[in-house]
Amino acid sequence: MTRIRVGARNHGVDDWRILPPEPITDLDTYLGIGGGEGLWKARRSDPRDVVDLVWRSGLRGRGGAGFPTGVKWQTIASVDPGQTRYVVCNAAEGEPGTFKDRAILRSNPYQVLEGIAIACHAVGAVEAYIGIKASFTRELEVLYRAVDEIRESGLLEGIGLTVVRGPEDYLFGEEKALLEVIEGRDPLPRWYPPYLVGLHTGLVAGVGAGSAGPWEVANPTLVNNVETLANIPSILRNGPDWFRRVGTDRSPGTMVFTVSGDTRVEGVFELPLGVPLAVLVDGVAGGTDRPLKAVLPGASNQPIPGELIDTPAAFETLAEIGSGLGSGGFIVFDDSVCMADVGRAYSRFLAEESCGQCPPCKLGCTSLADMFERLETGDADPYLLQEMAAWAERVTDANRCGLGAGERALAAGILNRFSEELASHIPGGCRVERRIQVAKLVDLEEGRFVTAPGRSERPD
Ligand code: SF4
Repeated sequence: MTRIRVGARNHGVDDWRILPPEPITDLDTYLGIGGGEGLWKARRSDPRDVVDLVWRSGLRGRGGAGFPTGVKWQTIASVDPGQTRYVVCNAAEGEPGTFKDRAILRSNPYQVLEGIAIACHAVGAVEAYIGIKASFTRELEVLYRAVDEIRESGLLEGIGLTVVRGPEDYLFGEEKALLEVIEGRDPLPRWYPPYLVGLHTGLVAGVGAGSAGPWEVANPTLVNNVETLANIPSILRNGPDWFRRVGTDRSPGTMVFTVSGDTRVEGVFELPLGVPLAVLVDGVAGGTDRPLKAVLPGASNQPIPGELIDTPAAFETLAEIGSGLGSGGFIVFDDSVCMADVGRAYSRFLAEESCGQCPPCKLGCTSLADMFERLETGDADPYLLQEMAAWAERVTDANRCGLGAGERALAAGILNRFSEELASHIPGGCRVERRIQVAKLVDLEEGRFVTAPGRSERPD
């Protein structure tokens, strides 16, 4: 049985905000604890005031980029009133080491649905979509039941809501690729962001902008992550000052963190943003048996060396040390790993998941994975590290999406932070036996994640 660990009460939060201690399994229970009040309040308010509340809360997107949610809403809400607008909930969680959206959907789908309904009111959309992997059968079962209940209750009145089941690809979670999947195509990122060129415009990924150039908005579409939307109802109900009571000034609120890897306990934990990483890794997740080597915030970020474990887990503080918060999923490595091997495994994952529309991304990720492997096998010459640094610079050239930038962060981070360890592979190769495999987290049982091979298995 899945056990969701909630650590919020011990770290300054008055009560849970996103992840309840026990799953909420019916709408009546949700309404009994104040669910629905945010939506009723929103519907009695001018949409501009709803956007303003979200803006003032300082909520930042929980899907990876940390973009201010109020700014995103304002951008969509302020376009020509004649435009058709859509709201999309991104539930295609695919970042290695992240399980929080599935945990939220399993334990409180109603809060996400209420957030979607509020977003529709705020930006003037009458149609919404939830993009979710077809393989998330348990979450889909819970979600379908909750959608039926909430529809019958009338809370979704005036909103068409469609659940779209999509493929395993990492890129399904990329917002421009997500729109392609919703329109029935493969997850190939488009050129233009959803707030400029949204759903059902007749434009497809491989064809430039068509008649709608970047200066011309077409069906602007708001894409928010599951956790972002789950934060909305309580912001409406309690106000932006309440929301800011925990977290940091620039990263207010809580976050549902995932900790996996070499810690004694793995799990999903809701804590205020800004808690030191050490609280998560050593406190809540029980620490590691061997000395801590590094923490990887997903495949697309710089690894955080063990000596920086006291860094607060917030968008701004992790950026200050050259890494990032990502979607709050931390993969913990003890000192039995080789960082060249970490570079090889995660670069290979990104190379395989790269769609190839932008040659520097596909070639760069593949070359970097090959070069990390050459370090391991002892096939490296003294110039290899320079060559790797050059590829890390070029891998982002003319990219449509952020995958190449993720590879640059990962590879450059390992090259910079662990340069001595990499140099020790020349000559002789890797002297460490352990080999890393990128894994998907598919379930959580008694404090350990059940995993499956990480890549989507779509042929290149
Ligand atoms: Fe595909 Fe990479 Fe280009 Fe993104 S950056 S669209 S993953 S080739």
